[in-house]
Amino acid sequence: MGIKAILGGTFNPPHTGHINAALAAADVLNIHRVYLMPCKLPPHKAVSVSEAHRVAMIELCCQENNRLHPELIELSLPAPSYTVKTLRAMRQQSQDTICFFIGADSLYNLDKWYEWEQLLDYCHLVVMRRDGETFSPPNAVKLWLEKHKAHDISVINARKNGAVLLIDTPLYSISSTEIRNAMTQTSATDITTSSDWVPGSVLNYIKEHQLYKS
Ligand code: ATP
Repeated sequence: MGIKAILGGTFNPPHTGHINAALAAADVLNIHRVYLMPCKLPPHKAVSVSEAHRVAMIELCCQENNRLHPELIELSLPAPSYTVKTLRAMRQQSQDTICFFIGADSLYNLDKWYEWEQLLDYCHLVVMRRDGETFSPPNAVKLWLEKHKAHDISVINARKNGAVLLIDTPLYSISSTEIRNAMTQTSATDITTSSDWVPGSVLNYIKEHQLYKS
């Protein structure tokens, strides 16, 4: 039985923050492959581009880096996407240990996720550092964290689920929101030649399909 590392997200668009942070966390855990899993319909986010575009951009990221692979299971499940339901469906298909990656910003909002206290029944949660983190999660999350925080990464080999691993990944200060905002205001080429916010093939795709234009 293997260990499967998954980064779920809206990926609107996928960016170097997603990729670099996830690969850095995977390196710490000695995991080679990272699966990028787009959600179907995020319960608390309005998505401005189609599912097909988000998937196409993820596939381009995966073509540029052979450690990355698409995981499209969530798109075949009923909307809206809820991580706990997706993990449950994955557990029915495979006995692999799942390491589910989230940014620290997601950890601080975790108590707003559907059935969040059941997440660890199906996976280990791997938390990557995120710019702007305050390290003041709500009390419920703080208490839960104290109970489940792993002190050693070896837990992912010892158990199939139940631990939260806080990984000291480098900070990548970029978000999809910033990219979308910047792209509506200026030309896509200007933005990314200077900042490397998205892989080159994703930038070309965005330009070709005129995504994020107001
Ligand atoms: P948006 O700005 O639209 O809210 P986002 O940039 O946060 O999007 P998502 O696709 O919503 O991207 O993120 C998926 C997961 O990746 C989340 O758990 C998020 O915390 C994490 N993540 C996104 N960007 C980074 C980053 N720069 N560093 C670390 N983790 C990140």
